[in-house]
Amino acid sequence: MTMTPGTELIELETGVFARLHEGLTNAGIIIGDEGVLVIDSLRVPSFARDLIQDVRHITDKPVQYVVDTHSHWDHSWGNEEFPEATIIGHENCYTEMVDVEWNERWRESVLNSGDSWSEEAGLVNITPPSLTFETGMRLYFGGRELHLRYLGRAHTGGDTHIHLPDDGIVFCGDVAQDGGVPYLGDSYPEEWPDTDDRLVGLPVERFVSGHGPVGEHSALEEARDFIHDLVGSLKAAARDGRDAQDAASTTVAALTPRYGGWRSFERIEEALPEVYAKLT
Ligand SMILES: [Zn+2]
Repeated sequence: MTMTPGTELIELETGVFARLHEGLTNAGIIIGDEGVLVIDSLRVPSFARDLIQDVRHITDKPVQYVVDTHSHWDHSWGNEEFPEATIIGHENCYTEMVDVEWNERWRESVLNSGDSWSEEAGLVNITPPSLTFETGMRLYFGGRELHLRYLGRAHTGGDTHIHLPDDGIVFCGDVAQDGGVPYLGDSYPEEWPDTDDRLVGLPVERFVSGHGPVGEHSALEEARDFIHDLVGSLKAAARDGRDAQDAASTTVAALTPRYGGWRSFERIEEALPEVYAKLT
């Protein structure tokens, strides 16, 4: 058996794995006594089946739990491939995943993207979490504590952070990346900076993001600084009465020296007018 092409499995601690997918979406795999907990089911069912195959390289225990870090399609549209598992997510993640308009907007966008998985997106049976929480939830799993934390709205309305306090690790979905700009389209820019402050305040040494490499705490701080700088610049533009386009270009100019080399930085100018509108 070989791993899915483009993926890499990193054992962070005994029984705790980051399954990184080059240019696509990462997953987490945590081994318990009787079963496995998977973090994010990935973009379409075939990707979830590849993930399940890769889990089989490590263990033959069944997948008992899937945690959706958030509602976005590339993290949660593989949920239907885990019919025996309990799918856990934040209550707001559930609300977003049963929002017909939200789902159709994303389905339309993926169908029109012309990617190799586009057609399959048309067939996805979007499956929301069956177990939700509001502020936090603990699982005692495989001899370790998994603390599912809600730290406030940020990248979406329902971002879950899976914190492993004994290991100093957090899986944080798309709220923070090491050297990458998260998608801003469904975000809550008024609240994201405070949520990031709470995330950075967790006692962790490493974080696994939904995209990109495993990061150290210093990269988490940089991701926090990025959101603070972005929102701060847009708010300053609003105080100066600038229009959306002007606010966007001023903000890109302000962010370029420090963050211009980050993955997906080129996408932000297009995304900023909508973020600006949410702040004004
Ligand atoms: Zn996302």
